[in-house]
Amino acid sequence: MNRPYSLFVSHGAPTFALEPGLAGPQLRQLGQTLPRPKAVLVVSAHWMTRDLSVATTARPKTIHDFGGFPSELYRIEYPAPGHPELAKATADLLRTAGLRVNLDEQHGLDHGAWVPLLYLYPAADVPVFQVSLPARLDAAGTWELGAALAPLSEQGVLIVGSGSLTHNLYEFRQSQDREETYAIEFVEWVREAVVMRDRARLVHALELAPHAARAHPTPEHFLPLLVAAGAAAADAPVRVLPGGITHGVLSMESYVFGVAAAEDRGGVPLSTVISKR
Ligand code: ZN
Repeated sequence: MNRPYSLFVSHGAPTFALEPGLAGPQLRQLGQTLPRPKAVLVVSAHWMTRDLSVATTARPKTIHDFGGFPSELYRIEYPAPGHPELAKATADLLRTAGLRVNLDEQHGLDHGAWVPLLYLYPAADVPVFQVSLPARLDAAGTWELGAALAPLSEQGVLIVGSGSLTHNLYEFRQSQDREETYAIEFVEWVREAVVMRDRARLVHALELAPHAARAHPTPEHFLPLLVAAGAAAADAPVRVLPGGITHGVLSMESYVFGVAAAEDRGGVPLSTVISKR
């Protein structure tokens, strides 16, 4: 019996595709243990549009939407098929929820989608389609977008919000030693709100959480968390995938909604994560 589940994944820097670190093996194991989805729906920080768009691309191209990274990154392809039929049904579902939706027949897979999927489904044999992150949506609206997508997860679609739990690109580009304490404090505050399924705190996290303005100078890498949390039932259990901090400033922590920590096979038990301060 399949239960609905959704995922927030921190995709970190594009080099995550080459450097699995702590997070890569956990995503790989997750892909092997979750019930196989009929498709993956990704809302990524790297596909922002003015209005809501759903990609109906049949064969989405791998988009290398980054600059200045090692050349081998640009040779990686993720040839998963799209799912035009399900994408159109998703657009209809969102329209029923009162949202205005455009169809995009061209959009490929941005790196917020394909980099984590390299670990989750390395064979690229699960269809993938993207729903955009509308630039005009605030945090509450983003949560509602997730809630509007929830019926799909009940039908076996894995809803993935792909961002980064902390994301200060200015600090990422600095070469000197970084001070990661602030990032850890921000992550711990958010983790507690996620585990408590505290919608009010999460929706206002960028105003209330410690160091929020430093962790997210712009909101687009935080908002996908609200899509994944909004897509989950209010009482859905949460599993934390602690990915540590890479490059001193990018948290790689991810959350699975709908799968309890106790079901974890080989990961870090949730109690350990929560008490580690
Ligand atoms: Zn990113």
